[in-house]
Amino acid sequence: MRLFEDRAYGPEPIANSYWATTATAPSYPPLAGGQSCDTAIIGAGYTGLNAALELARAGQDVVVLEAEQPGWGASGRNGGFCCLGGSAAGFTAISRQVGRDGALTYLHTERNAVDFVRTRLTEYGIDADTHSRGETCLAHSPKAAARMRDELGEIRDIYGIDAEILPREALASNGFASSEFHAALTIPYGFALNPMKYVAGLARATDAAGARIHGKSAVTGMQTAPDGRHLLQSAQGELRAANLIIATNGYSSDSMPPWLGGRYLPVPSAIIASRPLTEDELAAQGWTSRQMCYDSRNLLHYFRLLPENRILFGLRAAWRCTEASDAATLAQARVDFARFFPAWSEVEITHHWSGLVSLSRNLTPFAGPVPGMDRAWAALCYHGNGVAMGSYAGALLAAQITGQGPATPALMTRPLRRFELGRWRRAILPLIYGWYGLMDRRG
Ligand SMILES: Cc1cc2nc3c(=O)[nH]c(=O)nc-3n(C[C@H](O)[C@H](O)[C@H](O)COP(=O)(O)OP(=O)(O)OC[C@H]3O[C@@H](n4cnc5c(N)ncnc54)[C@H](O)[C@@H]3O)c2cc1C
Repeated sequence: MRLFEDRAYGPEPIANSYWATTATAPSYPPLAGGQSCDTAIIGAGYTGLNAALELARAGQDVVVLEAEQPGWGASGRNGGFCCLGGSAAGFTAISRQVGRDGALTYLHTERNAVDFVRTRLTEYGIDADTHSRGETCLAHSPKAAARMRDELGEIRDIYGIDAEILPREALASNGFASSEFHAALTIPYGFALNPMKYVAGLARATDAAGARIHGKSAVTGMQTAPDGRHLLQSAQGELRAANLIIATNGYSSDSMPPWLGGRYLPVPSAIIASRPLTEDELAAQGWTSRQMCYDSRNLLHYFRLLPENRILFGLRAAWRCTEASDAATLAQARVDFARFFPAWSEVEITHHWSGLVSLSRNLTPFAGPVPGMDRAWAALCYHGNGVAMGSYAGALLAAQITGQGPATPALMTRPLRRFELGRWRRAILPLIYGWYGLMDRRG
């Protein structure tokens, strides 16, 4: 049982994705007949593929089952911000859950996650069009600019990173000209990438390492076989495995496995991209920075100038996924884009697409054993920041299975709590959006 309208799980949201024009992930044949392996992985995004690659390198016989093809989910359609993040809870809230040391351990893991992706790209020679010296947050109000000054010390204390602030008067001379913004805070850690090139390279590396990947193999049945192994069914095949990893994130189903029911909340996010801008057009707006940027709103916008001079602009989408709600999100994106970049308000928007991210009730990511199931693990809920954290969570699960590799921070193995409204939890979204919108207007 899935939470959104069928459209969210079909081809429409990515029919006009820009990334699909830049790279294609390899296609793999469906699972056929009866097969067996050491570890079965459901979902071929960053989480599933990185887990598979680590396990195959450790000598395991691994099978990845993907409903469509690798990168079909959020991993092939995101904004490509490979940055710190994964939790929606701040340092104080995390400390309340796992203590100050536990919080620091988790936040250090966010750094490790960025490093992990950088190493993956280098080690496997994946050219993913990287750029940007970390991430830049732009203050949407004078109050937000004042808060940034307080954040400098906190970023140094918890991440050990020296962030930098640009006051409003220095924005234009640094290529961030827009009357929308009141200051900029740069955390020089992380980089931007082409998400489809990354996931395509990852699939090739996983395949080459010996894992068997099957596309068009939606898992429709999950049981325990009489010999205690997991038994997975797809349309044309059956797979027995000693270990099971669930890596379906925003595309999960409440019954796969039943423990997941009510414990993750998919949230739509949408992106538009313009045609390439000319040097004159860049100069007209005064926006020439190659930094990956977002604004300081709770309902944030994320944007960056791609290497080919298209501007990518993303935002939280409507809480439904119908033709009408998609059209409303596109209209909103155009309005916000024109407000941020008035000189480009008439520039042709050539691509628009959307997908599902996932939140947890704990507001923190999960990577650990599935309670109540033997030898089953899951990793999900990166709060819109899964390029780095999803990739690393896959590797953390592999380490939990083999007993070798990096330790998972205690925060991430805390079982996911259930959302109050269970299967009707999506109804929370308009309330959250309304509240956040109000907070954002207050500055
Ligand atoms: C529009 C958008 C923008 C984003 N921008 C950023 C960003 O800039 N930076 C960032 O860090 N994060 C971003 N994210 C989030 C990030 O993309 C995700 O957190 C990350 O890709 C999750 O990876 P995953 O492998 O866990 O899940 P996914 O990539 O979503 O993969 C899950 C896979 O599971 C498969 N699946 C589901 N059910 C089954 C089944 N029963 N059988 C077989 N297969 C199944 C699906 O087909 C899917 O391919 C964004 C997401 C979206 C949608």
